[in-house]
Amino acid sequence: MSHTHARPKQSQSDSGVQSWESGTIESMVHSHGYAALKAKDALAPFAFERRDPGDRDVFIEILYCGVCHTDIHQVNNDWGFAEYPMVPGHEIVGRVVRVGSAVTKFVAGDLAGVGCLVDSCRACAPCQGAEEQFCQDGPTFTYNSADKRTGGFTYGGYSNNMVVDEAFALKISPKLAPAAAAPLLCAGITTYSPLRRGNVGPGKKLGVIGLGGLGHMALKFGRSFGAHVVQFTTSANKADDALRLGAHEVVLSKDANAMAAQAGSFDFILDTVYAPHDINALIALLKHDGSLVLVGVPSEPLPVAMAPLIMARRSLSGSLIGGIRETQEMLDYCAGHGIASDIEITPIQKINEAYQRILKADVKYRFVIDLASLGK
Ligand code: NAP
Ligand code: ZN
Ligand code: ZN
Repeated sequence: MSHTHARPKQSQSDSGVQSWESGTIESMVHSHGYAALKAKDALAPFAFERRDPGDRDVFIEILYCGVCHTDIHQVNNDWGFAEYPMVPGHEIVGRVVRVGSAVTKFVAGDLAGVGCLVDSCRACAPCQGAEEQFCQDGPTFTYNSADKRTGGFTYGGYSNNMVVDEAFALKISPKLAPAAAAPLLCAGITTYSPLRRGNVGPGKKLGVIGLGGLGHMALKFGRSFGAHVVQFTTSANKADDALRLGAHEVVLSKDANAMAAQAGSFDFILDTVYAPHDINALIALLKHDGSLVLVGVPSEPLPVAMAPLIMARRSLSGSLIGGIRETQEMLDYCAGHGIASDIEITPIQKINEAYQRILKADVKYRFVIDLASLGK
């Protein structure tokens, strides 16, 4: 069964991007993919339209799209702001098919990537500082986001094509395998950015909590940056993998003695866990002045005891993906250092099974959808 959904006509007043003004609903790009039609729905085939590419847009045929745990949170409306129909997917690698007349970064035939962001105001302080993810106007996310150009909502990469302003498309080096590069667009930048900001490198002890999509990238980056890396996992069967992927030590977080042996020893900990868990046990692992950075987004608040932060001047903070400039820097770093995601390729028809396996922490370590399976 395929459903169709037409976008409303665009409002031109708030677009500010002249190049798209010729777009009309009649000339829109026909797209198809998989969508959730309501919260917690199984994903199913879905047809929709994207805006007609303008002067500054690139039109991309999607080859691969990674499956981020955020996609599951969003399909399930865990965070309370989901919009349906929802086509998830923000770890996109594809082939540029054609470019607008003002495009300078890409030519037809290039590989291109699209991560979590497709637009922002470009004028506010965060945008000017190349941190578009914090745009004060609200960035336009790749899916489930109000699209200022069309007046509708954005649709993501579980689909056959993408139309994106070249300013938000990333160059993918031919040195990177396209499928294994796809997860870099979210899992990669979300871990690279806080590790760089935290000066994680030689002489520093890094803890990575959770060996999933984000966790395995944090482990690889931490090792590559020269830190001493300790991987924490709830899954005993991942211990050998953690060492193979570059961890110096592995700790089973359910083992109280092993946790106690690590107390007070970390400069930096990155927490990638998506479910409720004991944050205080992680704070206890930090040295004085150590930093716990959260990137996992459980849907419920977690209790935090204040004294262990205060008495050792430890800090607790969060981090959100990264800006476009830093995402390109990360992709180029990966190409130069032979870093990519460990992936399991899946046809789109098995996406609902993939979600179930992710929820059982049974993925090594990122599912990537091969969009050739979608057909024409
Ligand atoms: P994932 O692949 O499912 O990995 C999460 C890992 O957390 C699991 O593999 C598991 O690792 C561990 N885990 C699961 N339940 C746990 C529990 N109850 N206690 C302790 N550990 C547990 O997910 P992901 O794609 O990496 O995403 C993780 C989170 O980051 C999600 O909440 C996602 O929305 C969020 N995210 C945030 C950003 C950002 O910009 N901040 C970007 C992308 C994603 P082990 O088996 O090793 O224990
Ligand atoms: Zn993501
Ligand atoms: Zn802005």
